[in-house]
Amino acid sequence: MNDQPPLRDIAVLGATGSIGTSALDVVARHPDRLRVTVLAAGSNVEALLALCRRHRPAHAVIADTGAHARLRDGLRESGLPTQAHAGDPALGELVASDACDTVVAAIVGAAGLPSTLAAARAGKRLLLANKESLVLAGELLTAAAGAAGACIVPIDSEHNAIFQCLPVAPAGIGACAAGGGSHGLRRILLTASGGPFRGRARAALADVTPAQAIAHPKWSMGPKISVDSATLMNKGLEVIEAHHLFGVPATQIHVLVHPQSLVHSLVEFIDGSTLAQLGLPDMRTALAVGFGWPQRIESGVAGLDLLAQGRLDFEAPDLDAFPCLRLAFDALAAGGTAPAVLNAANEVAVAAFLHGRIGFLQIPALVEDALASLPVVAADSLDVLRDADALSRRHVEQAIARNPTAVRPRALS
Ligand code: NAD
Ligand code: MG
Repeated sequence: MNDQPPLRDIAVLGATGSIGTSALDVVARHPDRLRVTVLAAGSNVEALLALCRRHRPAHAVIADTGAHARLRDGLRESGLPTQAHAGDPALGELVASDACDTVVAAIVGAAGLPSTLAAARAGKRLLLANKESLVLAGELLTAAAGAAGACIVPIDSEHNAIFQCLPVAPAGIGACAAGGGSHGLRRILLTASGGPFRGRARAALADVTPAQAIAHPKWSMGPKISVDSATLMNKGLEVIEAHHLFGVPATQIHVLVHPQSLVHSLVEFIDGSTLAQLGLPDMRTALAVGFGWPQRIESGVAGLDLLAQGRLDFEAPDLDAFPCLRLAFDALAAGGTAPAVLNAANEVAVAAFLHGRIGFLQIPALVEDALASLPVVAADSLDVLRDADALSRRHVEQAIARNPTAVRPRALS
């Protein structure tokens, strides 16, 4: 019997980022099974060209339409047959086409929603790292995946851990993504590293700089998710993500701070069993699960030596110092467009913090203000969600512009 998985034609969206780099590392280890056919990035043409020379995809897409000619010329000068494309519509068409059967959705932020949705609607295997699209449009995205038979494999270490612990059919998480069955689940325990400021009181966070905030103790990640980890908004987004992926209510989702980042999450069943997935903090494991599932393939990540690691600690999150986690639970409870408002407000606030325009403690303050000020309506269409996202962005931008007395730590250079 041939137990080799089929050759996968892979689109890596956000190829120049942290997850994109890890995905390409795993792909390069399996030239017989995995092939890159589409590479997409935001605006860094040189970095995208370098990846094209290395992986020789059939298509390369740059989001910035003004950079199309530079990409096309650079590909030609490199003697590559790769076709150049630019802009969101081109990316959506390629993702939905037979240019790929597997999509790594690793664009950061709500900017990833159109391509993620296109992959779900086209029934692709979707390695979903772009958690913001689930927070913004979770119902629509999982319904689209369910209707088209798309198999979603979460590429967030916690949700990937839960995916591995749940007794899903070998076909993948399609049924889970659509909220299929409770699996005898009592609760999900999401672990959190606690970020670089774990143990600090709220008052001690007023002056922290962007450089300190993105210096994550355990994970190497892009700047936006690193700040989210420092505020615990990342865990809040992940609570909402878990709700959509696994069809569980907020009351069954708990957060446990685990500073070693070796237990990636736990699942408790009604018979008293708790299953956990452990491993070194390296996203290549989750990506290898995504590419190979239901088979296991090499990822380049070493096994876990628990004797060398020594201990596993757990503590409760400090919601006073890190209110973003509470705000995310609040938004999930409010439902409708509230998570979209939360996500957009957070994206604007984090970008302003990284540019040195606001202080760290203003991030939760701005998100809280947006949630309290903006209306919550039923999230029954993509247009409604896009409007809520845009309204929240405008609201927070205006609030920042009105507040010249903000603490201004040095911007990240
Ligand atoms: P990153 O900043 O390192 O990379 C982001 C990528 O998105 C880059 O390739 C960039 O060119 C591209 N991009 C940005 N804006 C774009 C746009 N408008 N259109 C098209 N492409 C655009 O970020 P990252 O750390 O790799 O995170 C990517 C996603 O994965 C995020 O949603 C994050 O929450 C999620 N995630 C990351 C990790 C991690 O370990 N890095 C873990 C779990 C989940
Ligand atoms: Mg995570």
